[in-house]
Formats: sequence, C-alpha cells, structure tokens
Amino acid sequence: MAASELRPAPVPGPAGPREGVTVIADRISNAYLVEEPEGVYLIDALFSEGARPLLKALGPEEKRKTLKGILLTHQHMDHVGGAARLHWLTGAPVSAHRFDMPAIEHKSPAIGPPLLSQLMRRPAVTVAQRLEHGAMVGPFQVIHVPGHTPGSVAYLHKAKGLLFTGDTLITGKSGRLALTRRTFCYDPEQAALSLSKFEGLKVSAIFPGHGAPVWDQAAEQLSDALARLRKVETPVDHTIFGPEGRPEIHPGMPGWKEG
Ligand SMILES: [Zn+2]
Repeated sequence: MAASELRPAPVPGPAGPREGVTVIADRISNAYLVEEPEGVYLIDALFSEGARPLLKALGPEEKRKTLKGILLTHQHMDHVGGAARLHWLTGAPVSAHRFDMPAIEHKSPAIGPPLLSQLMRRPAVTVAQRLEHGAMVGPFQVIHVPGHTPGSVAYLHKAKGLLFTGDTLITGKSGRLALTRRTFCYDPEQAALSLSKFEGLKVSAIFPGHGAPVWDQAAEQLSDALARLRKVETPVDHTIFGPEGRPEIHPGMPGWKEG
C-alpha cells in the first residue's frame, strides 16, 4: 500500500474551507468562519487572545469589512473572549441569546466554574441582536438549548445542514459526541433535556465548541448521541419557568433576588 493511502484525510483548517466553513481552533475551543454570498459569519470567538488568529483567518483589511456577524453560542470566556476586539475592528454586530446577554455585556457576573470565570479575561462587548429560539441570523436558525448556560444556543444553517452546537454537544476524548462535564454546566439536567431540540434536524456536518468537527456521517453521529445522552422532557411548570423551559430570571440577571 502506498504511503499516501495510509495518510489520514486532511484536517480542514484556515488553509482551506470545506462547505464554506473554516475551523479556527486554539488549544481548547473552536471558532468557525462561514462564507456566504453576502459575506462571512463568525461563530464564537475563542479566548481574548483568539482575536489575532481570527483576524488572520478573516484575511486582509478589506475582507474584514465583509464580516456580517459575530454569533455567540454562550457567555463563557473561551467563546466570547475575542468578540470585543473583532467587533471593534470590523463593526460586525454581536448576537447572543437574551439570557446570556447580561453576562456578555458585564451587566451580571458570568455563570461558570467560579475560579476560571474570575481568572480569565472576558472583555465586555455590546450585544446588538438579542436572540430568541427560532430567530434567524443571516442563514442561521437559532436553537435555544439551555443547560450549559441559561442562554446557550446552537445555530443551524438550514440550507446546508450545518449544526454549530457550542458546548451543548462537544466531541469527547473518545471521539464521539458528548455532553460537557456536569461541573461546567449551569444546569446539567436541563442540558441533557435540551438535546431534544436536535431531534429530527437534517444535518450534514456538526461543529462543536470543543473537539473535532463531525464532517462524515453527521446524521448517524447525531442520532447515536441523542440515543445515548438525551433525557425525556418532563412537563415544565411555567409558573416557575419561562415559556422556553427554564428560569426567566437566573442568578446574576437583573431582577434576581437572593433567598
Ligand atoms: Zn462553555
């Protein structure tokens, strides 16, 4: 067998987009640039140091102006860090779910592992577009998947079947899709329940917040993950929880009262 046949398939990176998607990863998290006819969308923004590789991937100054939006999957610093600089340099509007917006704008403390949240820089950025479940941002449909954080979302590029899952589904060490560790979740039970929102989606590729993207057999990988990880939704008491399933007001949000 020729040596070339033993080589694994090339990993798509900044050198060559696939399905219009360029993967930009640091040692921990992933961000994605998605090329569309009207311009480029960025999904998540790594740590604050990530602004530099993200700008490099975007290309020369005139290309930066084609950035149409910075779409955040959730408030954690390893996904939001570079957003402020990117927004400042390109003017591209930032989108995030309304439940995570206060933390992203530094109007409430971040929800997450306390030590990490305190240690890591997470520059504040103004959220121009407050997202709700079902909203559209460019070609992406917003899927509210609370649990990892109250305002965690996934973005589905419906025309191409590209699903960007943030930390709601990540690629684990085993190489399979997995839930984020409980200790990193605001409400781990809800995170597993939220997987129901992925039921029946037509996907051709899956792009997690951490770990390798799933380019091949994505539909099979997703249904396998749902069968292993999903919990069955129990009726929600809407007198306590908001219409989207979980607290309208959570610790740290405006209106939250202790005790
Ligand atoms: Zn996270």
